[in-house]
Amino acid sequence: MSATTHVTHWIGGGPVAGNGETAEIYNPATGVVSGTVDMGSAADVDAAVAAAEAAFPAWRDASLVKRAQVLFRFRDLVDRHRDELAALISAEHGKVHSDALGEVARGLEVVEFACGIPHLLKGGFSENVSTRVDSYSIRQPLGVVAGITPFNFPAMVPMWMFPIAIACGNAFVLKPSEKDPSASLLLARLWREAGLPDGVFNVVQGGKTAVDALLAHPWVRAVSFVGSTPIARYVYETGTAHGKRVQALGGAKNHMLVLPDADLDLVADSAVSAGFGSAGERCMAISVVLAVDPVGDALVDKIVSRVAALKVGPGDDPESEMGPLVTREHRDKVASYLDLGVSEGAKVVVDGRTAPVRGGGTAADTPGFWLGPTVLDHVPPGSRVHREEIFGPVLSIVRVPTYEAGVEVINSGEYGNGTAIFTNDGGAARRFQNEVEVGMIGINVPIPVPMAFYSFGGWKSSLFGDTHVHGTEGVHFYTRGKVVTSRWLDPSHGGVNLGFPTNG
Ligand code: NAD
Repeated sequence: MSATTHVTHWIGGGPVAGNGETAEIYNPATGVVSGTVDMGSAADVDAAVAAAEAAFPAWRDASLVKRAQVLFRFRDLVDRHRDELAALISAEHGKVHSDALGEVARGLEVVEFACGIPHLLKGGFSENVSTRVDSYSIRQPLGVVAGITPFNFPAMVPMWMFPIAIACGNAFVLKPSEKDPSASLLLARLWREAGLPDGVFNVVQGGKTAVDALLAHPWVRAVSFVGSTPIARYVYETGTAHGKRVQALGGAKNHMLVLPDADLDLVADSAVSAGFGSAGERCMAISVVLAVDPVGDALVDKIVSRVAALKVGPGDDPESEMGPLVTREHRDKVASYLDLGVSEGAKVVVDGRTAPVRGGGTAADTPGFWLGPTVLDHVPPGSRVHREEIFGPVLSIVRVPTYEAGVEVINSGEYGNGTAIFTNDGGAARRFQNEVEVGMIGINVPIPVPMAFYSFGGWKSSLFGDTHVHGTEGVHFYTRGKVVTSRWLDPSHGGVNLGFPTNG
C-alpha cells in the first residue's frame, strides 16, 4: 500500500470524501504510515443516514426471494475476494494472512446464514384461536440501523451484523474502526456489485464524533456495537437514552480451566494457539490458564517449549505465525503488564520483548509494533494482571488447588465472554457448563465461538443489552414483531359485545 492511500466514506452507493479531519493509518509491521482515513463529522453521518432512510422503503418492500438473491451474489463475491480482503486486513491490522483469511471465512458463514432469510422470517399461524378467528405473527424491519465495530476483526465483526440486518430489510450504516478501515470499502463495493440498491449499505469512517452523531440521530433505530467495555457501556447508555435498541458487546478476560485428568499436550497446544493467535487481540483469546494442582509445573514446561518455537513476523510473510500489535500505544500498554506482573508477584517465564522477529532483531529493537509471546507464571488471582483485559500476547498462569477454586476465580471476574474447561471427566464438564457465569463455553475447545446459526455474546461486562449477535437472536434484534388477529365476516358475527375478548 502506498503512502497516498486515502480511505473515504461510502454513502448512497459510492465513495464520498470527507471534508474535515483525517487520521493516519499505520502498517504495524513497519510502524510506517500507509495512508489516511476520513474522520466523519455529524454532517457526514447525516448524509449517510439520509441515504439509508431514502433507500429503506423500497428495500423493505423487495421480496424475500429478491433479497436472498442479492445475499447469494454477495456471498459469491466475498468468496472470490477472500485473498484481497485478507491482504487489506493484514496490512492495517498486522495479523498474519492465514488468520485474516480465517476471519473472512467466519464472516462469510453469517452471510450464508442470512441467505436463508425467507425461512428465518417465517411467522407463526394459528387457525381458529376463537371461533372463525385466526392469529398470526410477522416480523418487520426497523428502518436505518447502525453498526460500530472494533479494530481486531475489520471484516468479521461487521459481517456479524450487516448481512442479517440487510436480509431482514433494513438499511445499514457501518462505522468501522479508524485503525483498519480499508476492508469496509471493499465490502461496500462488493455489495454494489451484488446488486444491492444504493443507500442500503453505507460506511461512515471516523471515531467518537461519528459514533456520537449516530447515537443521537433520530432516524437510527438500532445500534450494534462491538469494542471495549467502557465504550460499550457508554454506547448502550447513550443509545438507549435516545430511544434506540442497542446491543453492545464489550471486552473479555477468558480463562481455561485445566483439570488434572486432562491431556496436557492437547491443553498446551490449545493454550498456545488460543493465547497467541492474532497476537492475543481476540475477544475470545485465552488469556488465563487456571491450572488445578498438581498439573501446573508440567503444563508450564509444555507451554514454554511450544512458545519457543513460534515464528513472529510480518503478516505477509507466509512463514509468520504471529504478527505485531495494532499500534505503538497499544504495544506499549500491553508490554507494561510485564513489569506490573513482576511487581505483583508473578514470574516471567517467557519475555516477549526479547523474542526474535523474522527479518528484524528482537521485538524491542525492530521497527514496528512488536511484542513476542509472553508467559507469566504464578500470577496471583485477583491481581491487576489477572483481572484486567490486556488484549495482547500475554498468557497468565494462575495456580488453583481445586475445580471449585477455579470456578470461583472465573465467576468473580468482571467479564463473562468465553471460557473453556479441559478434562476427560464428562461429569465435571457438565457441572462446569452449568455453574460458570459466562456466555460461551468450550469443553476441550479453547475458543468456543458459536457458529453463525447460533448467537454470539457474553455475560456481565462483556455485553450490555439482552440480545446476542447473529443467529436467530440477530434476526430478532433487527426486526419488530406484530401479531395479527383476523376475522373475515360471516353472517354469525354476533353483534355488539363490550366484554373483554376471550376465546370462545
Ligand atoms: P474500542 O472500544 O476502542 O473501539 C470500538 C469502536 O468504538 C471503534 O469503532 C471506535 O472508533 C469507537 N470508539 C472508540 N472510542 C470511542 C469513544 N470514546 N466514544 C465513542 N466511540 C468510540 O475497541 P477496539 O480497541 O477497537 O477493540 C478492542 C476491544 O474490543 C477489546 O476490548 C475487545 O475485547 C473488544 N471486542 C469484543 C468483542 C466481543 O464480541 N465481545 C469482539 C471483538 C472485540
